[in-house]
Amino acid sequence: MLITTGKTRVFVDRDIHLDCDGEFAFVSHAHSDHVKLKKAKHLIASPETKSLINAKGVKLPEDYSNDKIELLEAGHVLGARQLRASTDTGVFTYTGDFCLEKNILGGGAETKECDSLLMETTFGLPKYEFPERSSIYDSVIDFQKNANGITVYAAYSLGKTQELIKLLNDKVGLIPLVGKEAAEISRVYNKYGCNLKFIELGTTDAEEVLDYDFVAILPPRKFTPEFIKNLRLVHGKKVSSAFVSGWAVNKWYSWCDAVFPLSNHSDYSGLVEYVERVSPKKVFCTHGFSKEFAADLARRGFQAQSI
Ligand SMILES: [Zn+2]
Repeated sequence: MLITTGKTRVFVDRDIHLDCDGEFAFVSHAHSDHVKLKKAKHLIASPETKSLINAKGVKLPEDYSNDKIELLEAGHVLGARQLRASTDTGVFTYTGDFCLEKNILGGGAETKECDSLLMETTFGLPKYEFPERSSIYDSVIDFQKNANGITVYAAYSLGKTQELIKLLNDKVGLIPLVGKEAAEISRVYNKYGCNLKFIELGTTDAEEVLDYDFVAILPPRKFTPEFIKNLRLVHGKKVSSAFVSGWAVNKWYSWCDAVFPLSNHSDYSGLVEYVERVSPKKVFCTHGFSKEFAADLARRGFQAQSI
């Protein structure tokens, strides 16, 4: 097995590149920062991830599988998988982005013992502790039930938006408006049985809904105080705004009426719990607060380093 820094890669049977360019590519999930397929001729990914990549119009390389490679649920977004491989130097696992906690659409990362672990550490500082998911759900439901007029949520188009759609459909009886990208992604979720009800902005259905009180979910990049102010002026209604992300812990978007720390990543305790469950001899940390988290793991008795 070989792990290199920068372009992370591991030799399994062939030279498998993890979420980065290479002839043999493992794509853990369909978030754009993990999909780099320019040089790929062979692809290891779940069927759901392939459908999501395909929906973006990206041509898929040939499928590749290997009896030394096993894909485990990562619990992050639809189709997200971890790669677990038997190598000459033991069992190696790459988590990709993961979340141990189940959400309203399913998930919950699988944990199996390994010798070497390459893990994401996006929320690798102790300050990133999220409340129980069920209590965050309750807060969103209360917020929505008490809102009058228009409600706008800022949430990433892949993962968080679908979780919010399901929550609003099933727990509040509302069908939210979403943008084109989120609608395309949500249709792929429905192909895999998620039964999400939503209305795509720009369609005639959406035009009708916009005359009444409505709920919309938009990507954070469109979400500004000016946008909310304009919405209020154009529609002549009260507008309630909420930011939905694990980064809400940092008080980002404090100008909103509410922030909800709902994340598709494990929080700090979840990252530690994952390592304890899989009990690796060696841990490599990447993404986010990798240096700080590796130092914490070392204090807990693990051999760990940031790459
Ligand atoms: Zn991701």
